Amino acid sequence: MKVYKFGGASVRNADGVRNLAEIVHTQANGDLVVVVSAMGKTTNALEDVVRACYQHQPEETQSRWQAVRAYHEAIINELTDNVPDPAFAGVFDTFTKLEAYLRQTPDGSYDCVYDQIVSMGEVISTQIVAAYLNSLGIQTHWADARQLIRTDDTYREGKVDWDITCRHIQQMAQPVEGVIVTQGFIGQTPDGLTTTLGREGSDYTAAIFAYCLNAESVTIWKDVPGVLNADPKWFDETVLLEKLTYQDAIELAYYGATVIHPKTIKPLQNKDITLYVRSFLQPEKPGTEICNNEHHLEISSFIFKINQMLISLHPYDFSFIAEQNLSRIFSRFAEAGVKINLMQNTAISFSVVVDSNPDKIPALLNQLKQDFRVTYNDGLELITIRYYNQSTIDRVCVNKKLLLEQKSRYTVQLVVKDRG
Ligand code: ASP
Ligand code: MG
Repeated sequence: MKVYKFGGASVRNADGVRNLAEIVHTQANGDLVVVVSAMGKTTNALEDVVRACYQHQPEETQSRWQAVRAYHEAIINELTDNVPDPAFAGVFDTFTKLEAYLRQTPDGSYDCVYDQIVSMGEVISTQIVAAYLNSLGIQTHWADARQLIRTDDTYREGKVDWDITCRHIQQMAQPVEGVIVTQGFIGQTPDGLTTTLGREGSDYTAAIFAYCLNAESVTIWKDVPGVLNADPKWFDETVLLEKLTYQDAIELAYYGATVIHPKTIKPLQNKDITLYVRSFLQPEKPGTEICNNEHHLEISSFIFKINQMLISLHPYDFSFIAEQNLSRIFSRFAEAGVKINLMQNTAISFSVVVDSNPDKIPALLNQLKQDFRVTYNDGLELITIRYYNQSTIDRVCVNKKLLLEQKSRYTVQLVVKDRG
């Protein structure tokens, strides 16, 4: 059994879907699960639908949704040469159901409504992909990930119940012949409401399926040649990392290399399942292989996070930063749903670096001000270099002011500001 994962960029138009089919046809021999994300930028577009729907703006909701629908219909028309094909009927059922949902007054928390609507991007994309593969004569079974992946009710960040999920997935896959096509990113609570697993969570879904089915490998098909030592967005010259250990891959993903979702690797490592990252544009190339190897990376990797904020907390009463303060600080961050990208403390202050999120940070700062004098600095960059040396540090600090530096044996993190 192998698992393939195709992200939104790989299926953003009809050519992308055809290319997926070509890859499935030529690369796969044997049992295969294909995990697919929502097409193109659909998830972002559906987030706008959610916002309008939750704010009771029926016209705005309608027009935003109609644009999403039209985008998918155009892809279907191109795949079917404008000849109505009953194989795609399921997609139109999904449209109708979602339209009925959008006409109702939203029921439940914002995050719950978000998951009911945004998850449809993956349902629609997989219905299109499965119908197209079947129309080519590739025997395909559409599996509903909501019936398989059981989570708790932490909407937008569902926590997977592995025992139940594994049982469901094994029972589903056992009798199936041919290719299984399923949705990334989504699951379901015990009460039957849909959950999502966190943005970009389709990689994680691929790992869940691979883990539960004891797959031999997972391949993530991307628009880059594999895992690079830096994001081409920031660096002109990047190097393809042909082999990575699970440990290096986890570290790179954790610090923000967006090529693999950070939750993906651990389940694979636990079962020694190889992860490949390959290019859907050049499927003949080997890409990156991540497995249990002794390969020591000889080159430095660079990870950039922009829109960072450095927040420093100083106790009003000049007490030291100690366990009680820390536990209070961490609960405030956890309650606000703000992830800490880096932290550092001195005797009388505690500094953290977080994504500068306008939806969450102002409320958090107000909370923190009850207990601490708060200072902060916005518009920063957090640069992580794995396998650093002084010349790599100097290279990224050109024209930057260094605000904070943290070094461990293999990794340095630098918080910098443009000199302007
Ligand atoms: N469609 C979801 C997102 O854009 C999940 C994914 O692409 O992995 O976040
Ligand atoms: Mg995506």
